[in-house]
Amino acid sequence: MEIETIRNTDPEVAELIEKELERQQTTIELIASENFTSKAVMAAAGTVLTNKYAEGKPYKRFYNGCENVDKIEELAQERAKKLFNAEHANVQPHSGAQANMAVFLYAVKPGDTVMGMDLSNGGHLSHGSPVNFSGLYFNIISYGVNDNGEIDYDNVRELALKHKPKLIICGASNYSKIIDFKKFKEIADEIGAYLLADIAHIAALVAAGEHPSPFPYADFVTTTTHKTLRGPRGGIIMCKKEHAQGIDKAVFPGIQGGPLEHIIAAKAVALKEALSDEFKQYAKQVVLNAKALAKSLMDEGLDIVGNGTDNHVMTLDLRKLKKTGKDIANILELTGITANKNTVPNDPESPFVTSGVRLGSPAATTRGFKEEDMTEVGKIIAEAVKISDTKDENKIKELRQRSLNLCKKYPLYKD
Ligand SMILES: *Cc1c(COP(=O)(O)O)cnc(C)c1O
Repeated sequence: MEIETIRNTDPEVAELIEKELERQQTTIELIASENFTSKAVMAAAGTVLTNKYAEGKPYKRFYNGCENVDKIEELAQERAKKLFNAEHANVQPHSGAQANMAVFLYAVKPGDTVMGMDLSNGGHLSHGSPVNFSGLYFNIISYGVNDNGEIDYDNVRELALKHKPKLIICGASNYSKIIDFKKFKEIADEIGAYLLADIAHIAALVAAGEHPSPFPYADFVTTTTHKTLRGPRGGIIMCKKEHAQGIDKAVFPGIQGGPLEHIIAAKAVALKEALSDEFKQYAKQVVLNAKALAKSLMDEGLDIVGNGTDNHVMTLDLRKLKKTGKDIANILELTGITANKNTVPNDPESPFVTSGVRLGSPAATTRGFKEEDMTEVGKIIAEAVKISDTKDENKIKELRQRSLNLCKKYPLYKD
């Protein structure tokens, strides 16, 4: 096995990889942006393709010897186009943030006005956070959500008419409602702005028809490949034909050098998997599982922003309990559940403390969890919240065992 190969050269790294495998096998993964790739995807990422330089596009490279990677990258492009019904796909972005950066480079100039969702309201760093290139080099107008966790489209329109952004970004890292791409397009059209739909989180749901598609409304669609889509870490940009050349140029030579062809091969494999009926079932189950978890938590008396979820993600609102996201995420880790602290709308706490915990169903769903398992996860979380102050050791032990039982029910990377 490949771990033995690593151990022969580097026992320190091999041991840490093995420990990480064990951590993934024995804990319940509720970080909404994480998932478990298939062994085929992982194997493709660990191949000789890592040795190849292939600057440029398939069949128009700057280096020789690209006949195999040309075909691999073309397969990835064609599968992405088919899966999302897109006119053009660039599969080279190293990550979701890189995909967004390339769209910025193509669509706007430094100093131009860009509108995106505020980070603390569920947006992403690359949608205009002051510490990100997007916020540093562009004039950012941010929109947020109301107390119910919903985008206020009237407010988005008002802001757009007032500030006339050249680019409007929709899509989020923590948003549990359906995004109305058509409405965003109508607003963008009123002021002649480009529309970027960043579907990093909901890509699998869009692909499987569990969430409305941003096509034909968006000019550009960016996504990560490693979240719900269950591929290797990376990004994809899709766009209308008229923008194809400009987007390709923005990726290379605009912001990147040589593409990661081993990762592109893994993207191709993941996209093939995503075109299967099994994947449609998975995407459907992701939503069912998220709804079951939200219901279980609410039945236990806990608050969820917006009282539930329409997709794969939800935010536990701890304000009423006067507890913090930081403390609850830490106690959850002790009970064998991994999640991240997250701000709630109008959070009184800082982003390092927060009053919320973001919970997602994709990774657990990949593992095999069904609704009844998510109900049990909700109960474990509710009990962990209750003992977050006392940190009752016996109770933690009991909850840890209950998490472990669920993990054992659905073995991961065992065969
Ligand atoms: C995760 C995410 C990204 C960035 O992805 P990276 O691969 O971490 O760079 C971009 N946009 C949204 C909405 C995301 O959730």
